[in-house]
Amino acid sequence: MTQRITAPRGTHDTLPPDERLVALVEETAARLFARHGLREIRTPIFEATELFARGVGTETDMVAKEMYTFTDRGDRSLTLRPEGTAGVVRAYVEGRLDQALPQPARLWYGGPMFRYERPQKGRQRQFHQIGVEVLGSSSPAIDAEMIVLAHDLQQELLDAVCAWLRDCGVEVPAGLEPTPLEVRINSLGDAACRPVYREALQEWLRQGAGTYCADCLRRTESNPLRVLDCKVPACRTRNAGAPRLQPCASCQDHAAQVRALLEAADVRVVEDPALVRGLDYYSRTVFEMVPAGGGEAAQATVCAGGRYDGLVAELGGADTPAFGWALGLERTVQRLETLLADLSPQDRSRLRADRPVLFMGALEARALPEVFRLGVALRRLGFSVQWLPAAAKPDRILKAAVRADARQVLLVGSDELSSGRARLKDLATREQRDVNLVAAELGTCLKPAGTGLAS
Ligand SMILES: [Zn+2]
Ligand SMILES: [Zn+2]
Repeated sequence: MTQRITAPRGTHDTLPPDERLVALVEETAARLFARHGLREIRTPIFEATELFARGVGTETDMVAKEMYTFTDRGDRSLTLRPEGTAGVVRAYVEGRLDQALPQPARLWYGGPMFRYERPQKGRQRQFHQIGVEVLGSSSPAIDAEMIVLAHDLQQELLDAVCAWLRDCGVEVPAGLEPTPLEVRINSLGDAACRPVYREALQEWLRQGAGTYCADCLRRTESNPLRVLDCKVPACRTRNAGAPRLQPCASCQDHAAQVRALLEAADVRVVEDPALVRGLDYYSRTVFEMVPAGGGEAAQATVCAGGRYDGLVAELGGADTPAFGWALGLERTVQRLETLLADLSPQDRSRLRADRPVLFMGALEARALPEVFRLGVALRRLGFSVQWLPAAAKPDRILKAAVRADARQVLLVGSDELSSGRARLKDLATREQRDVNLVAAELGTCLKPAGTGLAS
């Protein structure tokens, strides 16, 4: 027997009905992004390794341990993108988007990212993100607008899934909502106040050197802020007592304005002085959205980002302040699946994008070309039509029609062929009517699909 080939570790297939959930997230996000004037940008899945080393930072786990790096046949070091921002910034600089687009440039992206991590629930080696980047403004109003967007997107997603379930004729079970998310926020300071803090922190870290892991000891010298991000329990315990950043007046003012604007938008935030994003490029505002209530769940970040005022210059562009965030697609879909958790297999099978308005079957082989021809003509008229591609008994055709969740069914045999007429049967109401086997006429008899069980 030939050995079966399985999907690589840390990857997964998106199978129905999840394919529809994924598309709903993408469609809902795209719709909301358009309301904010964000334009889509697509960048390559692999980039020069140097881009991530410089853009993300060599001291991050992402770059130090998790990159899929390879040398191509031309001896270039390339890396499958571990995140989206560095590529977008590279494209912004290379494509002269500072001139080609009104500033600030409002962009969004989506697609697969790759990190060599230990696979676990919600953490895959190939995963997907949807993100926004606004380049060319240092205004706290941009921070607030983008955080409100991230916040509102979650509610729109819940609404979209509930509407889809209703369209499929499936009752949305009460009380099944996923754990609400909370917005945690912090300021990491800027070029004025962070260096002072960095030194104070470094001094403090050196004093407790004995308690830290090897990575932290190295980071203490190279990038002390990163120590605060360590997941090793002993390091975390000592970090709880670390000195906090004292933001300069300008950073304090920025943070206060972001807070006030979020409050005006009714977005509640939790101040979290321990929040240090894992990447080197952040400055001032950082935030993340995690399931409320702390504990294990709080580590399942659904969406995170912040301000990165130094990155564009770091990657060779002009001094350009910027703000962005990324949403984990898999974790988002996982949350939305909560709404589907209690569905019966029967209800589950109803979950699809489009219910066929009509299902057709041929009772004899010689009726098959007519069924085929009608199907083609009706689809060209815009109807969603399915059929059995082989002649079958009425029972089998009806069963297939029910399985496809079709509204109506049409059987064609030799009688129908000779009379040019057939019975159109409504599967829900059992109503029947005689119709001519002419696509244009048949079309006017078809009830719209997707209106659910109740109709
Ligand atoms: Zn550590
Ligand atoms: Zn500052």
